[in-house]
Formats: sequence, structure tokens, C-alpha cells
Amino acid sequence: MNLRSLPDRKPFLTAALAVVMLAALAAAAISAEPRAKDLFGAKKLPAVVPAQSFGFYSKGCFAGGVALPMDGPTWEVMRPSRNRRWGHPAMISLIEKLSRDAVADGWPGLLIGDISQPRGGPMMTGHASHQIGLDADIWLTPMPKRPLTFAERESMSATLMVDEKTHLVKDALWTPQHTRLLERAASYPEVERILVNPGIKKKLCDTVTGDRSWLRKIRPFWGHDYHFHMRIGCQPGSPDCKRQEATPADDGCGKPLAWWFTEEPWRPNKNPDAPKARDLLTMANLPRECQAVLAASDAPSLAAVTYQGGNATAVAVAEPQPTEPAETISSGNAALPAAASAFAPTPKIGIPLPRPRPGN
Ligand SMILES: [Zn+2]
Repeated sequence: MNLRSLPDRKPFLTAALAVVMLAALAAAAISAEPRAKDLFGAKKLPAVVPAQSFGFYSKGCFAGGVALPMDGPTWEVMRPSRNRRWGHPAMISLIEKLSRDAVADGWPGLLIGDISQPRGGPMMTGHASHQIGLDADIWLTPMPKRPLTFAERESMSATLMVDEKTHLVKDALWTPQHTRLLERAASYPEVERILVNPGIKKKLCDTVTGDRSWLRKIRPFWGHDYHFHMRIGCQPGSPDCKRQEATPADDGCGKPLAWWFTEEPWRPNKNPDAPKARDLLTMANLPRECQAVLAASDAPSLAAVTYQGGNATAVAVAEPQPTEPAETISSGNAALPAAASAFAPTPKIGIPLPRPRPGN
């Protein structure tokens, strides 16, 4: 009886084996697929196309990026070798505006950390977000009076503003100008969120008087103890940019903040070696359009896609300049790079932009 069933079972076993083998092959194919971080991390320049963000802050890419010049009258780019001074033109012009406003407020100037890669996408190191050109890290260390050399920008440490044990701001370091800087950044309608260490949020909750409505945008998060992270909303012209849910309407100083001062958020990671999202993302995980963003040909020169104030989009489509802008900081000389001189006229920015299309 058993023997009679054998002829039936054999094809079944063969089929099962085939399925197993196919699954193994598929797994091998998936693991052999290049990681999106390697592909986007290898791009040195964006293409000259209209600016558009695709996907979400932590899973996407963007086209038509422009570079923040290495130096301006009111800012300096830090960690230049990372080549992460790229953003949506709206973000780059907002950083420039913030740097001017901050100086007018009494802050000596901005040290700019990571913005995005030339075409966004996941990064080789750090940052789950910063992928669609709408996130920027700005140091809580004021810009020094003399220009920093290239080497100093690579190696200079930022000031840790928060005690790692108590998670409270170090009072000796915090000044009213720090508060003013965050208030100024939060004041822009484009800015939807500012991520700071919970200790910094608490300091603001405890000390800000008068108008506290801007505290709504200040969101506590791990890290962010030497810089703050400014996030703007999806920009017009980016229908495939996924909006983040709005922050609650209150100042966020109540229960949700108290949670950060319990033991729970600081428990050691049980699985520190688990791969991070950026280590797994392939092009198939990103919006379809990112394939085209990646494939588009490079801008003719760095100068052609370096922001020069005013209408950054116009800069991006301008004729390429004959020479690359000098990276004058390497010698530590005090002269500003050629691109910075273009900042003399005050760019017309800060006009409230129309809200992006809701949904999706
Ligand atoms: Zn950040």
C-alpha cells in the first residue's frame, strides 16, 4: 500500500526541493543586489533638473539639489569631506536666511553639519533621514571669529550641551542665544520640526516665557546634543514627497517629555549588531523615481549647482562656469570663496510658500 503511494510522493518531494532551491537562489539574488546607500553614496554631483523630493525623509531621494557654498559671510560648512552639503533649493536658501537672521539676533554665525548627499538617498554612515533634501543639522557651537581650515572642519569637536548621565542641559554652556537661535529656526513656516536632545527640549520648556507656541515644533529625540536638526515640509513641485504627520498642537512639555526622563528610553540596545535600515535598503525599497534620479547625468560642474543666493533654481540651470569654485578653505586663508561674494544682495526669501498638496 505504501509502495503504491510512492510514485505520487516522489514528484512532491522533487517539487518541494525545487521550491527550497528557488528560495535560496532568490535570497542570494537579493543579497547580491546593490545597496541603495552604495549607489547614492557614490554620486558626487546632482543632475541639473527641477528640484523634486521623492518618498519620505527616511526612505527616498531627491533631484535638482544645490550645494550650500563651503563658506558664506554668516556660515561655514563642517565635515566637508562627507559631501553632504546638498539640499532642496528651498532648504539651502532657508539655511542661508537662518544664518543671516541668527547673526542679526546676536549669534556669531552657523556651523553647518550634514544636509544631504547630492541626490539624497540612504547614507553609508549616520542618519536614518536626510534622504530627500529637506533635513539639515546645525551645530549648537557658534561659528568662530576666524575662518576654520579644512582640517579643522574635519576634526573640530562640537560642544556636547547635555550631561550624558542626567540628560539635562549643562547650564554653564546654555545661553539665551541658543534659545533665540532655536526660536528663530522654528519661526519659519517651512520648518515643520526641529529635533533636539530631550534635555534641550526640557531647558526650553522650563525657561521660555511669552510666546511658547513655537515649542510645538521642537521635538525631543536621541542624540542631537551638539546640533539641532531642522526639517522642512514637502515643497511645492514634489507631489511624490510624503508628508510627515503634524506635531501635536500643544507645547510638548508635558507627559511625552517626562517619558524621556525615565529609564525606558535609555535602556541599552539588546541587539546592537542588528543591521540598520540603511544597510538593507535596495533600489526596490525606494520610490520608483529614485532609479531615474540616480541614472541622470551629472551637472557640468560643481559651480553650476552651487547655490548663489536669490533664486537657487535659476542658478542650477545657469550656464556652467568655466572653472570649479576654489575650495579656498584648505589653506585656511581668510578670503571667502568666489561663490560667497554672490551673497551680497539680500535674496528674496522667506515669503510664505503655498502648502504642499495634502495626502501621499
Ligand atoms: Zn540630522
